[in-house]
Amino acid sequence: MKKLIINKGRERSLINRHPWIYSGAVKELPEAEIGEILAVYSFDNRLIGYGFYAPGTQIVCRVFEYTSTETDVNTQEYWTEKIKKAFEIRKKFIISEKTNAFRLINAEGDFFPGLIADVYDNTVVVQMLIKGTENIKDYIINGLLSVGYKYVYLKSKEVSGRLEGVETLKGWISEKEGKTEIEIIENGVKFIVDIETGQKTGFFLDQRDARQLIKQYSKDATVLNTFSYSGGFSLYALDAGAKLVHSVDSSKIAVDLIEQNLKINNIEPERHASFAEDVFKFLKTTETKYDVIVLDPPAFAKTAKAVKNAARGYKELNLIAFRKIKPGGIVFTFSCSQKIDRDLFRKIIFAAAADAKRNVRILHQTTQAPDHSINIYHPENEYLKGLVLLVE
Ligand code: SAH
Repeated sequence: MKKLIINKGRERSLINRHPWIYSGAVKELPEAEIGEILAVYSFDNRLIGYGFYAPGTQIVCRVFEYTSTETDVNTQEYWTEKIKKAFEIRKKFIISEKTNAFRLINAEGDFFPGLIADVYDNTVVVQMLIKGTENIKDYIINGLLSVGYKYVYLKSKEVSGRLEGVETLKGWISEKEGKTEIEIIENGVKFIVDIETGQKTGFFLDQRDARQLIKQYSKDATVLNTFSYSGGFSLYALDAGAKLVHSVDSSKIAVDLIEQNLKINNIEPERHASFAEDVFKFLKTTETKYDVIVLDPPAFAKTAKAVKNAARGYKELNLIAFRKIKPGGIVFTFSCSQKIDRDLFRKIIFAAAADAKRNVRILHQTTQAPDHSINIYHPENEYLKGLVLLVE
């Protein structure tokens, strides 16, 4: 196996087990293919670990194993073991009779850079973000089958800076083909997930715990769920006895999914209305008085440069909600922009509350569900934050 040697004095981030090696930390780039697995060594020839190589990019290597013991990482057993480990954690803490949809592999969060694997009942939807994971596709498929899944569907992300020339592909990569429309159950609530046309891998699994939280505030309430997608928060609120729920999403496909989800959960049609329109427009015109408002917009800041404008967008959105909500009402507000950290998000919400001149109490602070695990050495994997607020 070819070696990647770290420069003297540049091992610090490796000692701290950060999975990314930047080009500046490397003594010499070896002659190897993009995606090849390399052994990472210190300048004085001590083994540090193994990673996927990507010459010509800023992050030249993504470490998936920190070890000082020589290990044969180019085997089916090695990758099956990694997948099994991740599966056992979910089996213990997530999977139940009431939940069969979750994230099985969260890239660096599961010490598996370049791979996202989301489970929907007996199907796994995978995203391969780097050449390294694309190269070991067969190990990944076999590993997923060996923990008991039947079907594996590849859904590569749209081209992004992180991609290393990975082709945008969609389709079944397991021998057997499953269904692209899958009924799942999450905390006892049913949803139709369309893995082919849906957003992300088909469902926003990261909000599972926050959706569970809305139940305790929904009994007899009038609820507005903005950026509702397929109605995640709406269905939970209805399940918990909400009187009336309004769901707003600009995507017609999303709104169609909500209608299906209402049916399979046997919700009386008069308790819900969907609006396929822009949230900002809807908020300015609606005359309904809401007890609970959910604000779960897409990432307004996708890059560091966009943070300033994004902050303005979050502030405006929250300000309108604070002005609209009934006294004593509850606002669930979220940001999934990785570039806006928890502190900045809280400051933005503070500024909106102050402008609205309302007293606001923080009842809960939320984050991504635990199957979207955050590797402590790689805080970059943390992106979702939320506040549940009582607005006087
Ligand atoms: N809360 C959802 C996930 C929201 S994802 C859940 O629990 O599943 C963000 C959603 O916002 C997407 O469905 C997208 O279609 C929608 N969206 C983006 N911009 C919008 C806008 N300006 N007005 C309305 N919906 C918008």
